[in-house]
Amino acid sequence: MSGSVEYLPLFHDVRGANALVVGGGTVASRKIRALLSRGAVVTVVAKEFSRPVAEWIRRGDLRAIQGRFSPGHLDGAALVFAATDDRRVNAEVSREAIRRNIPVNVADAPELCSFILPAVLQEEEFTLAVSTGGKNPGAARSLREFLEQNREEISVRLERGRRRKRIAARKGKVYIVGAGPGDPDLLTVRALGLLRSADAVVYDYLVPEEILSLAPSKALKLCYARKGKTSGHGAALKQIAIHEATVRLAREGRSVVRLKSGDSLVFGRGGEEAEHLAREGVEFEIVPGITAAIGCAAAARIPLTHRGVSSSVTFIAGHEAFGKEGGAVEWDRLPKDGTLAVYMGVSRVEAIARELGNAGFAPNTPFAVVENGTRPAQRVLRGILANLAHIANEQAIRSPAVLFVGRSVDAVPYETVQEMTDELFAQSV
Ligand code: SAH
Repeated sequence: MSGSVEYLPLFHDVRGANALVVGGGTVASRKIRALLSRGAVVTVVAKEFSRPVAEWIRRGDLRAIQGRFSPGHLDGAALVFAATDDRRVNAEVSREAIRRNIPVNVADAPELCSFILPAVLQEEEFTLAVSTGGKNPGAARSLREFLEQNREEISVRLERGRRRKRIAARKGKVYIVGAGPGDPDLLTVRALGLLRSADAVVYDYLVPEEILSLAPSKALKLCYARKGKTSGHGAALKQIAIHEATVRLAREGRSVVRLKSGDSLVFGRGGEEAEHLAREGVEFEIVPGITAAIGCAAAARIPLTHRGVSSSVTFIAGHEAFGKEGGAVEWDRLPKDGTLAVYMGVSRVEAIARELGNAGFAPNTPFAVVENGTRPAQRVLRGILANLAHIANEQAIRSPAVLFVGRSVDAVPYETVQEMTDELFAQSV
């Protein structure tokens, strides 16, 4: 057969599905971007990672295996992409995947594919996909271009009958927007509307690709903050650069969305940015977001307050908690009948466990660590304070994670959550 008739056109919901990408170069990064922006859980296997791939790995968007492909990597995969520059490896991936009935796509080798990717025109409310069955990608692209040129007309047709209130970011104004903990569904309606209409987006490293991709593709996207540089001199310089960028972009007449993870006013320096904009006389608005502790608590079914168990919740910055002359946090003054939510505590978890012990928190106080909360790679670890340091070490907790401590942590039975965690675990080892 020739042409595209042998393929069944379908749109595959990959949210939460395990996708394996073999290869770490430019072609692989295109596949990865497409997968991440649709919520897949992506594992990449490659000897080397190109810059964008390395950046995703740093941000925790991806699981990475450095080295050569081996068939064992296919375990648990729902979808496989091969995009290495080694034909033999690509062929091996294809062979092994087909043997296991896992759909496989090999870049530029339709004969090795069990599925192919169409040329896509992605608009806010619809996706047009064009395929020539892999035989003539040039023709598919040119057809897509035709549709692209007519997108105005297509939009007008879609607009008819639609009666949704339009939220649009105003030119010359800065919106300091909380993006929530990671799941795009947890954006507020206002955040989504502003993001979709922004001319420029200045975002934090913790904001996942899936959320960023909601901004128009033509919007300017800038990221200053880097993981691991959240304090000290480097961070101060970055903060100044962010201040300058938002002011400049607004003065150039653009609508600017300053997109921050969680809520901008909780350990997010949103206050500093607002202060600066006010001083410079730039119009701005603060749009709240779901802060990590709130998102993670819901994801792990932890009531932050609970009648008769927890009557307060305290948000603590773990990495700032240890000043040179002792702690900036007065651990012994923290309420023992409340819930503690410790942000940015991964690197200090042993010291935090010690401080809590010294402050008189009972060794059997329950804790939970929610890593990558509300994101596809979410992991929940539970235990009691006495085991916290040990479990954190053994399970190699990674940022971003929130540590909850208090009796409310196991107020709701959590078997289901635990099972999910074990399953995710099994897949990641
Ligand atoms: N303004 C943000 C916090 C930024 S500080 C907010 O309101 O959530 C960065 C810290 O937030 C991380 O070190 C981690 O403790 C926490 N965090 C952010 N996103 C998270 C997530 N998806 N899961 C777990 N912790 C998260």
